[in-house]
Amino acid sequence: MKTGRLIVLTGPSGVGKGTLLRSLLKRHPELYFSISATTRAPRPDEIEGKHYYFVSRNQFEQMVEAGELLEWAEFAGNCYGTLRRQVEEQIQQGQWVILEIELEGARQIRQNFPSALQIFILPPSVSELENRIRGRGQDSEVAIARRLNHAQAEIAAASEFDIQIINDDLEKALNRIEAAIFTPASC
Ligand code: ADP
Ligand code: 5GP
Repeated sequence: MKTGRLIVLTGPSGVGKGTLLRSLLKRHPELYFSISATTRAPRPDEIEGKHYYFVSRNQFEQMVEAGELLEWAEFAGNCYGTLRRQVEEQIQQGQWVILEIELEGARQIRQNFPSALQIFILPPSVSELENRIRGRGQDSEVAIARRLNHAQAEIAAASEFDIQIINDDLEKALNRIEAAIFTPASC
């Protein structure tokens, strides 16, 4: 029987995590992407139940109190959390589950699932990160400023992670993520 596994993808907002993840899931549909809950409003192209479960702050607080979240954090004025049940069920069934989460959540997962593979995605530079957030064209000036503020602290924590990958050339970064996930660890 397959053994379930948890893989964590972290990196500053705008670095390209979502873009990399979409390509990774196309190449490897057997990987299970954990859809998070968030209090953030949906962006124009985002779909309920595909990108996130969009909930009110009240609903989010109830989920926290009921222990329904495996980890959660506040990021740039909104709450984000991983649904415990879907992840635990998938891992029990032997699936490889990917979480795309920010730094505080990744630290909580490290505490509770030390065997999770933790990957940190770095931008080629902070100015390129800003270009990408702006180029995405989906965040307000306030949201952009908050994201860039966070980015410095997140980048400083990159060495806490098992693997650091610079997302300069998309294809190369994707190949390195694939290698990190699918190459068996040697002893
Ligand atoms: P995140 O999920 O980390 O917030 P996104 O996947 O939304 O980031 O990417 C932010 C923007 O950067 C998008 O417009 C995306 O097309 C662009 N992008 C992602 N990877 C690269 C790359 N390697 N080179 C240039 N632009 C990229
Ligand atoms: P965005 O608003 O750009 O979709 O996401 C903002 C940040 O929240 C990103 O760094 C993203 O990885 C993170 N995030 C998304 N879902 C979760 C989650 O379930 N838990 C935590 N801790 N962070 C999340």
